[in-house]
Amino acid sequence: MEADRAKRDFISSVSHELRTPLTSIKGYVDLLLLGAAGPLAEGQQSFLSVVKNNANRLMDLINDILEIGRIDANKIQLNFENVDMGAVLQDAQQTLRAEIERKQTHVSVDIEPDLPPIVADLRRVTQVVLNLVSNAVKYTYPGATVHLRAFQNPAGLLQIDVEDNGVGLSPEQQQHLFRRFYRADNPLRDEVGGTGLGLSIAKSFIELHSGEIWVQSELGKGSTFSFMLPLTQPETTDDAPTRLAD
Ligand code: ADP
Repeated sequence: MEADRAKRDFISSVSHELRTPLTSIKGYVDLLLLGAAGPLAEGQQSFLSVVKNNANRLMDLINDILEIGRIDANKIQLNFENVDMGAVLQDAQQTLRAEIERKQTHVSVDIEPDLPPIVADLRRVTQVVLNLVSNAVKYTYPGATVHLRAFQNPAGLLQIDVEDNGVGLSPEQQQHLFRRFYRADNPLRDEVGGTGLGLSIAKSFIELHSGEIWVQSELGKGSTFSFMLPLTQPETTDDAPTRLAD
């Protein structure tokens, strides 16, 4: 509809306009933290770290809103290539090292030997894995355990499991989980912060690959988020194929 498109365009241009000054704020805060304008007292350092964290959160929110706009406008263009999902799991663990260490989370990575590569959009599947693993760290208590697994399931699809022993989700909460802006009530919710957009974006990305994403969880015990992807994509050709969402 025309009105929907106008609204989408408006949100998208506002989000783009917000990104430019925020990039500048982040850059100058980083410079200050590096001591580029002189040494910092402890208090200044810690206040600036708070500014930096909040600027990062704002940037994540803006980027998520832009991505949702692209999803709604069917403008996501998948760039297919051969992807080693085992390497994606290991890279995610590396990217999230600071959070993992801060919470003293024990992360194990179990990759089936001889796992075949899949045809997928590396950036998008990496974003999904980062979302699931960072949630597993966020919604568990310090010292928790997170298991990452990559294997070919009995249906021949590539499956990823992200299992945690954290706050868990009730059956009722599980029903709303992949909805936009949904954040379940749990003891860690306010402390960890978040937009409630990550899982809805993850679901769209997985479905654009003709895959599936789901959760098994028990309140107070923990959750296992899983997704599975086909090994190949129907439209794949030999010369760096791309696909527009239909
Ligand atoms: P965010 O983490 O930014 O709030 P997400 O879309 O990634 O947004 O997740 C939506 C909600 O799902 C979270 O707010 C949380 O309530 C719940 N959730 C996600 N992952 C987990 C998990 N591993 N354990 C328990 N709850 C989770």
